[in-house]
Amino acid sequence: MNLPQTEFPMRANLNQREPQWLEKWAQLGVYRRSLEERAGGELFVLHDGPPYANGHIHMGTAYNKVLKDLIVKYKSMRGYVAPYVPGWDCHGQPIEHQVEKNLGPERMKTISQADLRADCREYALSFVDVQREEFKRLGVRGDWDDPYLTLKPEYEAGNVQIFKKMYLDGAIYKGAKPIHWCIRCHTALAEAEIEYSDETSESIYVAFAFTEATPWDAEGPVSVLIWTTTPWTLPANVAVTLAEDADYVGVKLADGRVLVMAEELVESVAEVAAWENHTVVGPRVKGSELSGLHYAQPVHKGVTGVVITGAHVELTTGTGAVHTAPGHGEEDYLVGRAFNLPMPMPVTDDGTFDAGGGPFQGLNVRTANPRIVEWLGEQGTLVAAAKISHSYPHCWRCKQPVIFRATEQWFVSMEATGLRTNAMRAIGDVEWIPGWSVNRMSSMVGDRPDWCISRQRAWGVPIPVFTCTKCGETVATEETFDAVIELFSTRGADAWFTMRPAEYLPADTACPRCGGGVETLAPEDDIVDVWWESGVSHTSVLDARPELHRPAE
Ligand SMILES: [Zn+2]
Ligand SMILES: [Zn+2]
Repeated sequence: MNLPQTEFPMRANLNQREPQWLEKWAQLGVYRRSLEERAGGELFVLHDGPPYANGHIHMGTAYNKVLKDLIVKYKSMRGYVAPYVPGWDCHGQPIEHQVEKNLGPERMKTISQADLRADCREYALSFVDVQREEFKRLGVRGDWDDPYLTLKPEYEAGNVQIFKKMYLDGAIYKGAKPIHWCIRCHTALAEAEIEYSDETSESIYVAFAFTEATPWDAEGPVSVLIWTTTPWTLPANVAVTLAEDADYVGVKLADGRVLVMAEELVESVAEVAAWENHTVVGPRVKGSELSGLHYAQPVHKGVTGVVITGAHVELTTGTGAVHTAPGHGEEDYLVGRAFNLPMPMPVTDDGTFDAGGGPFQGLNVRTANPRIVEWLGEQGTLVAAAKISHSYPHCWRCKQPVIFRATEQWFVSMEATGLRTNAMRAIGDVEWIPGWSVNRMSSMVGDRPDWCISRQRAWGVPIPVFTCTKCGETVATEETFDAVIELFSTRGADAWFTMRPAEYLPADTACPRCGGGVETLAPEDDIVDVWWESGVSHTSVLDARPELHRPAE
C-alpha cells in the first residue's frame, strides 16, 4: 500500500476512542453550551417517556434513545433551543418484586412498609445510575445530572394534582367490580398487565335442578344444564343466563332425567357427553319464557339461583345456559347489575375459599378444581367432564394464571367526564401512518373498560384520599388534596406511611357524613397503577421545569 506517513492511526479503535471523545464533550459541557449558543432561538422540546429503572439497558431501550437523540441534535444544529431531559420510572411492582426476592420470605414478614419502601428506593436509584452511564456511553446528550425521577417529591406531588382534578370533576370512583387478580402477587392487574397463553382447564357440564314447576315436569325431574371451564366459580353462582330469543328444549336421558338446554346445541353436547338413547322432548320455549324460574344453587344446600336472560349468551359452545357468578366475570357482573343480583365473593386475596366456599372452605382455587369436579360427581349433578386447552390470562410479572375476582377498587370512568368521546375525537384528528392503523387504536379505546387504578402494593404513590374509620365514608376535598400536595412536595410520598393525617391535614377537616374529626381519618392503603405515574409527566416534568413547555413533541 502506498500511503503517506502520518500520525493518524491506521485503526479507528472506537472502543478506546469513543470514551475519550465522550470525556472531552463532558469537559466542554457540550449539552449546556448547545443551549447557550442557541439562546433566543425557537424552543424544541422532545419529551421522552421514562424507561423502567430495573436492569441494564437492552437493544430496545438503546435503539429508542439513539433515535430520539438524533432528532434533538438535528434540531439543535438547525438553530433551535433543544433541551433534552431524560427520566426514569422508579416505582412499581417489578422493583418491589425484586426487592422482595432479595429480602426473602422471613424478612418480608416483619419489615415495615416504610423500610420496604426505603429498600425499593435504593434499588431503583442504583439502576438509574447504571442506565445513566450506559445511555451516556451511547453518546446520548442531555441533562444527565438532573433527570426527572418519578420518586422525587415534586414528581409525586404532580400525581396528586392530576388526581385532585379528576376526582373533583367526578372521573374517579370507588366500586366493587370483578377485575384480573393475581393470587400470588395479591394485587389487581390492569388489562395492560395481562399476558395470554394456553392453559389446560376442566370442562364440565353440570345439572342445576329446578325448585319449581317447569314446562317439562310430565317427563321426569327437570334441571337446567350449564357448561363451565372454571368449576371453582360455582360457589359464587347466583344465576343462569339464557339467550332471550333462542329455543330451549328438554333432553330426556336414558335414566329418565330431563336436561334443559338450547335446541341448537343438543347434538354437540350429546357427543361430548357420549349420550345414547337421548330424546328431545317438548315443549320448545324461548329463553325469555323461562326467565324468573328458580333452581337449587349447585354448591350451597337450601339456596336458590334464578334464570335470567342476557345478550352475551352465544350459541356456539356450551349449552346456551350460562352459569353466572357476577363477582367472577365482566359479563356476569354487567348482567348481574341489570338484574340487581347479589355478588358473593367467597375467594380471599390469596385465592383461598372462605366460609362462602361451602364444602370447599380452606381450599385454594388453583387446586380446588379436581376436588369440586369429584364432589359434583358424588352429588349426581355432574353430567360430563373433559379437559380443554384454551387461551387464558396470566400475570405479566409472575406468569401465574390470574383469576377474575370482585374487590373494592378505584376506577377512572371512561364516560363520566367524556374521556372516551374526547379520546375518540382526538384519534380522528391524528394523521395515521399507515392509514389503517387508526382502526386498531380506535377499537382499543372504544372497547376499553373503566381503568382500575388501585394496586395493593407498597412501592408507589398512594391513592391520596382518606376513609372515615367511624362510618366508612371517603373523605377527599379540595383542602385535603392541597394538604397532600404540600406534604408530598416537601417530604415525598413516604410521609403518607409514617405520619398521621392530623399532622398535615387542616385541623378542621371532618367527615361529611358523621362529622368525625381529623383524628378519625385513615389514609388509603392502596397505591396508584404505575402507568398513572408515567401518565402525569406532562404536569410533573413539562409544567414543572422552566426550560420546558407543553405541548411537546
Ligand atoms: Zn403475579
Ligand atoms: Zn364518618
